[in-house]
Amino acid sequence: MRFDLITIFPRFFESTFTHGVLSRAIATGQVAVETHDLRAFTHDRHRTVDDRPFGGGEGMVLKPEPIYAAFQTLNVAPKPTRDPRKETVILLSAQGRPFTQSIAAELASLDRVVFLCGRYEGIDDRINQLLCDRELSIGDYILSGGELAAAVMIDAIVRLLPGVLGNPDSIRNESFGSEREPTLKPTEPTPDGVPLSTHLAGGLLDYPHYTRPAEFEGLSIPEVLQNGNHDAIRQWRRQQALEKTWRNRPDLLAQAHLTREDQAYLRRLEAQSKSSSDR
Ligand code: SAH
Repeated sequence: MRFDLITIFPRFFESTFTHGVLSRAIATGQVAVETHDLRAFTHDRHRTVDDRPFGGGEGMVLKPEPIYAAFQTLNVAPKPTRDPRKETVILLSAQGRPFTQSIAAELASLDRVVFLCGRYEGIDDRINQLLCDRELSIGDYILSGGELAAAVMIDAIVRLLPGVLGNPDSIRNESFGSEREPTLKPTEPTPDGVPLSTHLAGGLLDYPHYTRPAEFEGLSIPEVLQNGNHDAIRQWRRQQALEKTWRNRPDLLAQAHLTREDQAYLRRLEAQSKSSSDR
């Protein structure tokens, strides 16, 4: 899979691409990343990439010509003939649709993703109309540039590519995992013998993890994790995931795959919180 980044700070990405999962995926040739310096596509002495906004107001706007020229060198199909199952052009923008795990999964199925990184007040909107397939945001806050947002998206996409993570099961088990459909049925056992519903996040947040030592600064790990009772572990993890989602992201519960047992547990949480607030 190939990523192209059009940016005024091509060196911004150096640390992102030289660490961990992403650097390994690049080293094995599974992923290629090319950065394109916007200033290389200017023609004036000052290598100007920005200009004042039409209509007035504060700040500067990235000019359309250098971005358009940089894009022309990428050999991406023009927007009307582009195959959306193969390549896509993304404008990073606080006004975009929210980037989610399911969008990461969708992008991971493409051959090529091009990112246009904004700066200042943003990019001349004609670039959006002429070149971009979608506008994506990484959250409801304003960054000073699209570079960090692009790095976040690339990281989330690359770890979903087949073979990039050592253990493919870890993807299924994570927060937001299996958002769209569970890949295995909850009753199927996993290789380690733990019933799968422990693992299937099913759109919930992840449960808490612990490793050695069993006792740390006076805190012990939960008893249930020590006794090897896989059913009890499954149930505990599922309940922890439900509780965390209920506390921190109740909006996710509407889309989650919930069993009757899960729903009963959520009703118990509701009842407990109601009775403690009544007191
Ligand atoms: N005037 C804009 C903010 C510009 S910030 C507004 O009010 O929406 C400069 C650049 O940072 C943007 O062009 C975009 O590329 C990037 N950026 C800022 N916040 C972002 C976010 N939440 N997600 C993705 N990109 C963002």
